Amino acid sequence: MVKLKLNPTSGMTSEVAIGGGSVAGLSAARVAAALGIDVEVIENDMEIGMPEKCGGLISVDGLTKLGIPPTRKILLNTISEGKVVLSDTSSYEFDLKKAGLVVLNRNEFDKELASLAVRAGARISIGERIESVQMEDEGVTIRTNKRQTSSKLMINAMGAGYYPNKRGLIPAFQNLIAVKDGFYDGILVFIDKVKIGDFFGWYIPLDDGFAKIGAGGRTGGQEADRYFESALQALGIRYQVIKRINASLVVGGYVRRDGGRILPVGDAAGQTKPTTAGGIITGGVGGAIAGRLARDALEKGDFNGYTTLYDDAYGKELARQVTLAQVYKMLNDKQLKGLMDLIKDEDIEMDSADFDFHSYIIRKVLTSKVGASLISSIIPRLAIARLKGLF
Ligand SMILES: Cc1cc2nc3c(=O)[nH]c(=O)nc-3n(C[C@H](O)[C@H](O)[C@H](O)COP(=O)(O)OP(=O)(O)OC[C@H]3O[C@@H](n4cnc5c(N)ncnc54)[C@H](O)[C@@H]3O)c2cc1C
Repeated sequence: MVKLKLNPTSGMTSEVAIGGGSVAGLSAARVAAALGIDVEVIENDMEIGMPEKCGGLISVDGLTKLGIPPTRKILLNTISEGKVVLSDTSSYEFDLKKAGLVVLNRNEFDKELASLAVRAGARISIGERIESVQMEDEGVTIRTNKRQTSSKLMINAMGAGYYPNKRGLIPAFQNLIAVKDGFYDGILVFIDKVKIGDFFGWYIPLDDGFAKIGAGGRTGGQEADRYFESALQALGIRYQVIKRINASLVVGGYVRRDGGRILPVGDAAGQTKPTTAGGIITGGVGGAIAGRLARDALEKGDFNGYTTLYDDAYGKELARQVTLAQVYKMLNDKQLKGLMDLIKDEDIEMDSADFDFHSYIIRKVLTSKVGASLISSIIPRLAIARLKGLF
């Protein structure tokens, strides 16, 4: 976690200062500015949307919740199928037509959000790093590498580095690949408790023969390269890596922090799905809720009531997903294969809300015709008790 240091104060220069010009911060800025609030976003990098470090896979349902139309400019691909590949190389195919999944051009998406925020009246300063923040009785004093400024409230949307629960962060790598032969236009999920570990690997197809491959819990390197080469070759996919990135995934769950003049949102607050680390929608909506509450918060001098609003949107579901992720960790490759067989046999369909509300799928499995009894014979009792406790 990056610590915010204390510093002396000076005159007020915005009503709401937002640290971080990515999905959570820009969503907060857009909504608060539309309410007539004087908002300034302070972004460390020299370009909004860059460097890009995200898979970009989201649901259209989520995009709608963020109030952004799914235009060609921000979308790279529409996903209609996927496969889960297990450690014994068996693969399970899923029809995802009803799941409403799309792949974002994350760079363009962030720029579009910035444009919407600016049109709503927000100011954006790029290439400026927040180095310290001090909460005062009347406001917040912010020191950047260029100046000292102050605001009545601050929204911290500065990403995973500010997430307080260090054990809830895992390393990840993601490579951009140019596919030479056998481009697969669906999502691939790789599960292998020995070679990949307690998280999973992914393949996300972009447009024109490009894809992103990566894994959580791994930093890349030769072993990972070998794993992906052989797993993708088994599916007839041959490629060259053309870009590599490393970044942290937030999987520790939403950290509730109500009240006060400084409110964390997005990855900084753990507003990601602990099952997949996806946080574009859950963090973006977290930012938008903060923006909506800002008028009230300016009057009261604190963000009291935020957690209740976020819980109603995603917070409760994210808490359920902490349990789902724990149960997934308890299962070995054989048990996971048993589960996949069950899900396949039951023909359980994934619809649009399921991508952000994973617990819905588990509920469907548990309440399916033979689901509950079959599941009991596949996974340990402790795990089944935890799952049942969710509903
Ligand atoms: C490899 C990888 C793949 C992913 N794939 C997906 C996916 O497919 N789908 C999905 O939904 N999610 C995915 N995610 C998660 C998603 O990228 C994040 O949840 C989302 O970007 C979080 O948005 P945010 O605004 O909270 O933080 P970030 O996007 O991390 O933005 C934080 C911003 O704050 C700025 N900043 C940091 N420190 C300072 C400072 N001191 N001063 C000023 N500015 C600062 C940064 O420059 C950055 O612009 C992935 C993440 C990774 C790492």
